[in-house]
Amino acid sequence: MEARRRENKLKLADESVKASDALPLPLYLTNAFFFTLFFSVVYFLLLRWREKIRNSTPLHVVTVSDIAAVLTFVASFIYLLGFFGIGFVQSIIIPRAPLEDVTDDEDEISDFDRLMVKEDSPKIPCAAAAPKSDYLKIEKIEVTDEQDEEIVKSVVEGKIPSYALESKLGDCRRAAAIRREALQRITGKSLEGLPLNGFDYESILGQCCEMPVGYVQIPVGIAGPLLLDEHEYSVPMATTEGCLVASTNRGCKAIYASGGATSSLYRDAMTRAPVVRFPSAKRAAELKLFLEDPLNFETLSMVFNSSSRFGRLQSIKCAIAGKNLYIRFSCSTGDAMGMNMVSKGVQNTLDFLNNQFPDMDVMGISGNYCSDKKPAAVNWIEGRGKSVVCEAVITGDVVKKVLKTDVASLVELNMLKNLTGSAMAGALGGFNAHASNIVSAIYIATGQDPAQNIESSHCITMMEAVNDGKDLHVSVTMPCIEVGTVGGGTQLASQSACLNLLGVKGANKEAPGSNARLLATIVAGAVLAGELSLMSAIAAGQLVKSHMKYNRSNKDVASMKS
Ligand code: ADP
Repeated sequence: MEARRRENKLKLADESVKASDALPLPLYLTNAFFFTLFFSVVYFLLLRWREKIRNSTPLHVVTVSDIAAVLTFVASFIYLLGFFGIGFVQSIIIPRAPLEDVTDDEDEISDFDRLMVKEDSPKIPCAAAAPKSDYLKIEKIEVTDEQDEEIVKSVVEGKIPSYALESKLGDCRRAAAIRREALQRITGKSLEGLPLNGFDYESILGQCCEMPVGYVQIPVGIAGPLLLDEHEYSVPMATTEGCLVASTNRGCKAIYASGGATSSLYRDAMTRAPVVRFPSAKRAAELKLFLEDPLNFETLSMVFNSSSRFGRLQSIKCAIAGKNLYIRFSCSTGDAMGMNMVSKGVQNTLDFLNNQFPDMDVMGISGNYCSDKKPAAVNWIEGRGKSVVCEAVITGDVVKKVLKTDVASLVELNMLKNLTGSAMAGALGGFNAHASNIVSAIYIATGQDPAQNIESSHCITMMEAVNDGKDLHVSVTMPCIEVGTVGGGTQLASQSACLNLLGVKGANKEAPGSNARLLATIVAGAVLAGELSLMSAIAAGQLVKSHMKYNRSNKDVASMKS
């Protein structure tokens, strides 16, 4: 209704302008003419009226000039009423905001609305605005269109909020182009090099990124085949770190040549831990005992699970701090990474608990005992997301030929670096060489939340000589791999293509959750490959050499050699 009312107002405003354009004389001359006519005729009729009263002539006795005067009076009155009267009445009923005052896109007719009506662009959601393939066809980057130029100016002047461009224009790519141009003018800095075209801005609207001005390009390399649990995977890695893909690829080669790696997923539970407060520590302890009593688990899980088809409560663990209780809910989440899902279940359970513990105050749905995107021992010890252990036996031959080192050196280095060295550093889950390198690269390629790389990279790498010291047993244990194949960035075109490459795109209809679980094992398998290769490079003293080769220009390498 509001939108229609505003549209009508705008149409009326536009029509008045068009009517004046159609006049034979300029507007001010036409108005002067009708004003003169109107007042002359009124003057003439008043004189005639006075004359008739003086001569006692009946008023209905009229001459031709009287009739002509009355007709002219009516005509000029209608013109003046039409021109000023309606506009005046309209301005009282629907006051038009001065352009300078426009800040709220919902309540006022803005500059922006005016431009939009002129352009006749539909105010429809971006997703419905244009066929998906269209964004690829648009080549121009500069804002050249006249209306766009006006909108850019309004954004620069603060008359149009930048965040409202998508909803108002109904064209996400155009909104990004206008915002980008406005940003360049406001900051005086060029965005040349940050591409605008070739991206589907509709796909991120309302879920992945607000106020886009372009996108960052990150190359995707492929490591593999990774032979894991008797399947081969080509692992996509989005990175700008030279050596990383090559190194992981070498690890994959070593694993492949040794018969492959084996993985086991031993826990699947995303966590969320609200903080609640009681009037006394005693009451907080009472809730802890209630929540951890196995007899209450069934009821609590029924309440928790009712919020989702896929979320299933696994356990509840509480930590008490005086009057405050931190309740860590763990829940399997199907193919979703699960933060939204677990939060909904937690909210349901807190509502239920409030009936039984009316003196419980929910201080925050997240109390950092979860613990999301922060290094915390609770994750390292209890796990978060998917917990996976992955192992392989690399034959001595392969260690020598592919990894260019030997079993004893690798075992010794692992003990000194990944175990003792990390212990000396007071590491928290960082008992590895570079798990986060592989985790981050796969996360970015497959649309995971890269911030969760913090706990997802918790990993202990173990190496042991087996088969009378001839071969190497290597394993990575990763308790917090937080991945999903639905939701978040996973549905974007590029990321979804990478998931597709791994055969884990989207929701698994037959066995919900198995796509996300498989992805977690692939992450661990790739980390195993990465650990093997980097550890071997260090053991063989190759680290500096290979970095020089891949990270520096040939010129630099040549000068290093000389
Ligand atoms: P997250 O919980 O990781 O933040 P979202 O809430 O964005 O994820 O996405 C999960 C959504 O996907 C939920 O609405 C859920 O109902 C839906 N969904 C469809 N199929 C599956 C599946 N196999 N596993 C998990 N969620 C699924």
